[in-house]
Amino acid sequence: MIDYPPLFQELIDALRLLPSVGPRSAERLALFLLQNPSAVGDRLVGAIQSARQRIHPCVQCGFFAESDLCAVCRDSSRDAQLLCVVEQPGDVLKLEKAGSWRGYYHVLGGRLSPLDDIGPEDLAIAPLLERVKKNPPLEAVLALGADVEGETTALYLTPLLKQSGIRVSRLATGLPAGGGLEYADSVTLGYALSGRQEI
Ligand SMILES: [Zn+2]
Repeated sequence: MIDYPPLFQELIDALRLLPSVGPRSAERLALFLLQNPSAVGDRLVGAIQSARQRIHPCVQCGFFAESDLCAVCRDSSRDAQLLCVVEQPGDVLKLEKAGSWRGYYHVLGGRLSPLDDIGPEDLAIAPLLERVKKNPPLEAVLALGADVEGETTALYLTPLLKQSGIRVSRLATGLPAGGGLEYADSVTLGYALSGRQEI
């Protein structure tokens, strides 16, 4: 029996590394990319290369940026008294879509997880504390996942942030249990943000 040529199989294997792409979708995508005019494949390759080369973490908050500062940090019309601490850059987009946040953000790059050997030094916690010490906002909102790791991270951060004399709050309950912000719809997230509770 003849199978796909090795390079074709390699393309399928590479596509399978993407989230939500199973063996059949990978095969379909590979066939599409090879059978269609090269414009699609070329554009995809170009877009991946440009994005990987030019998008990097914002030097101030860690969100996606094409220059030193991201679009949020460059927006001086935002409320500098409000800082929202999130786990991942994608969480910023989630909260922006929810539409009710007018402050700035700080992306930790993950959450504390002793079982996975992820400690404070693996996250952007030192830059957060430095940032807050230098320019203390009135309030820091911990918009972390409603699971054990999110809880652990919040418990760790709260006293450290309070040392700068700021108010610390957490999102109201109602977020999907055991998951990060990526599982919450924007309406739920909007409510959770506006109903946040001081801790
Ligand atoms: Zn930024």
